[in-house]
Amino acid sequence: MRIYLETLGCRLNYAEMAALGRQLAGAGHELAASAAEADMCVLNSCTVTAEAARQSRQLARRLARANPAGRLIVTGCYATLEGEAVAQLPNVALVVGNARKDGLLALVQELGDRQNAKCKSQIAVPNTQYATRNTQHAPRTRAFVKVQDGCRNRCTFCIVTVARGDERSRPIAEIVAEVNALHAEGYQEAVLTGVHLGGYGSDLGSTPAALVAALLTETTIPRLRLSSLEPFDLAPDFFDLWGTSAGRLMPHLHLPAQAGSDAVLRRMARRNRVADFEALVAAARAAIPGLTITTDLIAGFPGETEDDFAQTVAFARRIGFAHLHVFPYSPREGTAATRFAGQVSEAERKRRAHVLGDLDAELGAIVRASFVGQTRPVLWENKEASPVAPFCPPILGENNAPQNWGDEGGVWTGLTDNYLRVLTAAPAGMDLHNRITPARLLRVEGDALWSIIDE
Ligand code: SF4
Repeated sequence: MRIYLETLGCRLNYAEMAALGRQLAGAGHELAASAAEADMCVLNSCTVTAEAARQSRQLARRLARANPAGRLIVTGCYATLEGEAVAQLPNVALVVGNARKDGLLALVQELGDRQNAKCKSQIAVPNTQYATRNTQHAPRTRAFVKVQDGCRNRCTFCIVTVARGDERSRPIAEIVAEVNALHAEGYQEAVLTGVHLGGYGSDLGSTPAALVAALLTETTIPRLRLSSLEPFDLAPDFFDLWGTSAGRLMPHLHLPAQAGSDAVLRRMARRNRVADFEALVAAARAAIPGLTITTDLIAGFPGETEDDFAQTVAFARRIGFAHLHVFPYSPREGTAATRFAGQVSEAERKRRAHVLGDLDAELGAIVRASFVGQTRPVLWENKEASPVAPFCPPILGENNAPQNWGDEGGVWTGLTDNYLRVLTAAPAGMDLHNRITPARLLRVEGDALWSIIDE
């Protein structure tokens, strides 16, 4: 069968679809490049915000338009919480909740067998007008690896914990085998992902530190990165792992703070206070040279006063985050916060989110500027469409002689170990894709850094 995979939402969703893609290919199926070319589509949906739920519906309809004869399986958090509504969407043949997601391969094949039996009697013409390209086929250099699912916490704004259920971890040996297989496929970086990474092993009598230590000793993939890590449940010596990783554990942490006011954190039922977060960051910075920290912040949580919000802005400045993922509070049915007093108006939520957006640009520029002059390892991903940018400085070649590659050269983009976006120019024929090279960071260029390969 030709199967088209589509997803939106968190890295865990992407990791799950990438894993399903490998399973399907391993079972002899073809991953279609577009929905129009597929016999079946699988959509991994999201409902973290009202907007994400709307996009999930929109994507399901777009897939159905792209291939009126194709069957559609919808899985993921939106399908888990709104199964009946999803079942009414066009072409939906199967709704698979998160609890059954691990069995998707068999479900796809079962549906395929049923479809084949039926199709023998009908021939339909695919409609390519709405063809959507398959993001799963993008030449990835980094692989998202699911290590656990679910969360024991009950943050009052969070629908994910409702949709994903209790914590369940994959055995370490299975994860080690997957990372080694990905490395053998050419991936240079594995990004460990889950709903609550800090809860890894809680159901297996293991810990996140044990998992990372095993990956450092039983794999040889050059780069291991942790995706979102809640700022609680971490053992005090967790950051010592970086000191023994020989540079393979990436010096970047995404620690969702959500707010910088204890009053708001209390109403969110977060298990940390501002002082705990700051102590955690201080411990991480002491243990991990060149560390960058990014975060999530919710603007306009119910009951958030102007003073609470001012505390969040001051907190973000004190920490000096490299990036703020800003979310205007989105009421999610099924979460406690929707019933709280002091709901903030939508206009005010947007205004506060806008203030945090400006702060993000300011703090990000400060962090990027602080790394100018350093040489950092970069995993190069893609060549930009535009040839050598006119603004790029002369690239020093042999004996520091400025090079000029005219139009044939290209601009490549990649990520440093500490998660900074960088650009560099390279002569025609120089393929940097999926290569890790040292790069000297020359200057800030918008939300990136211009660099020169320093081999
Ligand atoms: S810890 Fe994270 S996933 Fe768990 S309930 Fe809180 S926000 Fe949701």
